[in-house]
Amino acid sequence: MKITGIETIPFRIALKKVTVWARGKQDAAEHVLVKVHTDAGITGIAEAPPRPSIYGESIASIKFAIDKWLSPLVAGTDPFEIEKMWDKFDLIAANNTAKGAMDIALYDIMGKALGIPCYKLAGAFTDTVRLSWCVNLNPVEKMVEEGQEMMEKHGIRTMKLKVGIEPKKDLEMVKAMRHALGDDVVLYVDANQGYDPFTAVRMVEQMMDYNIAMIEEPCPVWDISGRQMVAARIPIPWMGDESCPTPPDAKRQIEAGARVISIKTARTGFTQSRRIIHLCEVNGVRNVHGLQGDTGIGSIASAHVCAGYKNTSFYYPSEASFFLIMEDDLLQVPLVVKDGCLKLSDKPGLGVEIDEAKLRKYAI
Ligand code: MG
Repeated sequence: MKITGIETIPFRIALKKVTVWARGKQDAAEHVLVKVHTDAGITGIAEAPPRPSIYGESIASIKFAIDKWLSPLVAGTDPFEIEKMWDKFDLIAANNTAKGAMDIALYDIMGKALGIPCYKLAGAFTDTVRLSWCVNLNPVEKMVEEGQEMMEKHGIRTMKLKVGIEPKKDLEMVKAMRHALGDDVVLYVDANQGYDPFTAVRMVEQMMDYNIAMIEEPCPVWDISGRQMVAARIPIPWMGDESCPTPPDAKRQIEAGARVISIKTARTGFTQSRRIIHLCEVNGVRNVHGLQGDTGIGSIASAHVCAGYKNTSFYYPSEASFFLIMEDDLLQVPLVVKDGCLKLSDKPGLGVEIDEAKLRKYAI
């Protein structure tokens, strides 16, 4: 089997409400759909969601990187030769989301060619992915309302709470959330680097009264000694997310004291995710399976990686629930959340098909 062509189609789907975090906000998913075609008639799909404020990518840069740089490197190669592909990708710096999408599409092709779902290619620790919900920055009452709604409507029992801009309000919100949702719900906070290290330590000390499970990206990525200080002074793990887009970055953050690392399939595909997961396992570091604002396509790809390994699926729920906030999706059959979980089907590859009429409607 040989790769014969690659299509990159930018699309835009509005969100039901604007999402806000410490380093940005968005009112729509403006992502790139990637289709990799082969001479066997099998097409692999993936979603590339740029995060300009974090990695400097855009839909234009992703389209350019794939069309002009990555496609020529893989044209005519066998989709199973994934290590060869990454070896060639090393010729191009950064552009992690463009590379991640190529990797996901190739896994979709491999699964379809073998007749097995991607999570089984990854390792099949489970076929059911527990979900958390990420409550974005808003006035306290709105955040609490959103947490309650997601718990009642979808059975989600873990909430990630965005913090990092106003410490006083953050503390008030965590307190109100704990009182509204009860003692059994797991709460963790994500500062998106918004605190300085000393504020991060003080905030965790105060938030411990409301039993938070961990803090994500407590202070700036570059401040390694500040991060080591935070790790030494708080009684819960801090998690690396945007600080860990590649395996060497993850290694650096483990050295800085990260005890949990977020795996985002959008930026590391199946292959680089696996490298980070195994690096974490041998260092006693656990994984949360994160999401980069993906629609259903990226969410299901993420869920396959998450289900593949114990370190990603057993200890913490996955964040692959963002699609619930989309006005619509590109999938023929929308994903269903039941009792706070996504169940993977036994269909080959990613197990989903694109609705071409919807793609025409949302393409930009
Ligand atoms: Mg994060």
